[in-house]
Amino acid sequence: MTTPRSSPGSSRPGSADDVRLREALGGLPAYIPGKPAPMREGLTAYKVSSNENPYPPLKSVRKVIERAAREVNRYPDMAVTELTAAIAEAVGVETSNVATGTGSVGVLGQIIQATCDAGDEVVYAWRSFEAYPIVTALAGATSVRVGLDAEARHRLDAMLAAVTERTKVVIVCSPNNPTGPAVRERELRLFLDRVPSSVLVVFDEAYLEFVTDPDAPDAIQLWREYPNLVVLRTFSKAYGLAGLRVGYAVAHDRIAAALRQTAVPFGVNSIAQAAAVASLRDVAELKQRVDALVVERARVAAALEGQGWKLPASEANFLWFPLGPDSTDFSAACHEAGLMVRQYGDDGVRVTIGETEANDRLLEVAQQFGPR
Ligand code: PMP
Repeated sequence: MTTPRSSPGSSRPGSADDVRLREALGGLPAYIPGKPAPMREGLTAYKVSSNENPYPPLKSVRKVIERAAREVNRYPDMAVTELTAAIAEAVGVETSNVATGTGSVGVLGQIIQATCDAGDEVVYAWRSFEAYPIVTALAGATSVRVGLDAEARHRLDAMLAAVTERTKVVIVCSPNNPTGPAVRERELRLFLDRVPSSVLVVFDEAYLEFVTDPDAPDAIQLWREYPNLVVLRTFSKAYGLAGLRVGYAVAHDRIAAALRQTAVPFGVNSIAQAAAVASLRDVAELKQRVDALVVERARVAAALEGQGWKLPASEANFLWFPLGPDSTDFSAACHEAGLMVRQYGDDGVRVTIGETEANDRLLEVAQQFGPR
């Protein structure tokens, strides 16, 4: 510890460096958000780096947002009553099983805060969602990363083998961001049957609505069977409310109550609450958009395959190009074509399925770059 340059009663103000921040912050990986689309003259730029929904909010939802905006001098409903009831009804669980938060990443933070002390372990696949190491480190817990298999899928058997006495949480991301495949029900059941019941298993389904694989699990059904399972969902992707920050967990009573304890008070704002309720009401219209994106995903994936590319099967609203050291060149070629994509070092590049024009441009770039 460094000695403060200023002591009580001293007239010197000292320095901000005197303040003792947590050591854990030093080792924290930075979350690199998707960058805005580059502006190129005469070329519409597309941000396909953050797995956002390219459609603007539904008119009906926008109206609700505008109405809610008139009352932002008031605090939101701290208990998130109406939205919790709407989620419970939509999912088919009790309200006591629903815990909301500021995006599902906020809820994940609540989960880790509720379970982990310094030195505890959180097991997850890698590569996977970049927020996992951050929320883990913030709690002073230790990340245990288990590499994906050759098809960029979770190796649930290896993840099980990585569980120790100190493991508090295992996160399963399905479909996996950034690689795309969903885990299969059979392998997930085998895993859940064998993992200790004291370990909380978080099933992160941020991209659930885009899944078409018939072998993918019905997570809520599994949740009914396994008391240590938590299902994590969001309004950011299929529901197109990424900017409002609202997500939720479906958890058994005791766990859901703990997630409410670790929530930031008044975290889910009133506009987000109202918009999410309205979105659940207009789910049929939203589903048409999701269906259109799924059709686009199939079109783009088939075209890439036709070009000779070999990509992992994506069940989400993005595609993964496992390009290794060629990632930088591919990413640059995309940027040159007005596509802001997400590069993951020397692992690969993730591209969101966006507007048809953006998808077409991706196909052109991929064709020119040459299949890998
Ligand atoms: N989980 C996964 C797998 C994600 O990819 C994301 C968003 N990139 C999230 C959770 C968090 O989404 P949000 O906080 O917007 O709900």
